[in-house]
Amino acid sequence: MRIDIITIFPDYFTPLDLSLIGKARRSGLIDVRLHDLRRWTYDRHHTVDDTPYGGGPGMVMKPEPWGEALDEITADADAGTPRLILPTPSGLPFTQQDAVRLAKEPWLIFACGRYEGIDARVAVDAAQRMPVEELSIGDYVLNGGEVATLVIVEAISRLLPGVLGNVESITQDSFAPGTMDNLVEGPVYTKPPVWRGHEVPPILLSGHHAAIDRWRRDEALRKTARNRPDLIRRLDPESLDKRDREV
Ligand code: SAM
Repeated sequence: MRIDIITIFPDYFTPLDLSLIGKARRSGLIDVRLHDLRRWTYDRHHTVDDTPYGGGPGMVMKPEPWGEALDEITADADAGTPRLILPTPSGLPFTQQDAVRLAKEPWLIFACGRYEGIDARVAVDAAQRMPVEELSIGDYVLNGGEVATLVIVEAISRLLPGVLGNVESITQDSFAPGTMDNLVEGPVYTKPPVWRGHEVPPILLSGHHAAIDRWRRDEALRKTARNRPDLIRRLDPESLDKRDREV
C-alpha cells in the first residue's frame, strides 16, 4: 500500500519508523511518503494560512498550496487513483470497519489540517479527480490532523497481510468484523498465575478451549455492556445465543 501524507510538520511522523509499521516500511509492505506542504508556497515566510472569510477567530489553510501539492502527488499516473482522507472533527466517525475497508485500497493520501482547518474548496476540487473522505477519530478537537493521521494509518497498517506476526489476533480484537461486531474484548492475563495475591481466572488455566472461548465471550459482553452500552444496543439479535442473552 502507498500512503502519502501532506503536513506542515513532517517530524510528527517519526513514530512511523518504529515497531511493526517501521518494519513493514523497511520490508516494502507499506510505502509511506511524507510531504511538507510549505514546499508548495512561494513567499518569503512560506505562508499556508490566511484570515477566515466572514470573520471570526483563528486562521484557515489557504487552498493554493493544497491544490498544487495534490496535483503534483497525484500526477504519478502509474500509481492509479488515490483516495484522499481529510481528518477533521466534523467528519464521519472512523471505525474498525473503515480500517478494514481502507486496508484494501492501494493508495491513500492524508491531508493534515491545522488552525481552523483547510479551505473547503480543496475537498470539492479534489473530489473531481478522486474519492474524498472526511474522517473524525473522536468527539474532541486536536491541534492538527497529524495525530489523527497516525491513528488511522496505524489502524489500517496492522490489518495489511504480513504486518502483524500473529494474524489470528486481529479476529479476536475489539470490533473485529464478523467475530467481534459491536463488542470490545474482555480482560487478558499472562504469567504468573498469582501476582500480589490477584489470581488469574482458573478457567484460563484449565486447558478446556471451548469453555475458555465461552468465558471470553461472556467477559466481552459484560465489558461492552459496562463501558459501551451504545454498542450493546447495536448487537444483531440473530447473532446472540441463549447464553449471550443470560450474560
Ligand atoms: N475548526 C475545526 C472544527 O471546529 O471542526 C477544528 C480545527 S482543528 C483545531 C485543526 C485540525 O486538526 C483539523 O483541520 C483536523 O485536521 C485536525 N483534527 C482535530 N480534531 C480532529 C479529530 N477529532 N479527528 C480528526 N482530525 C482532527
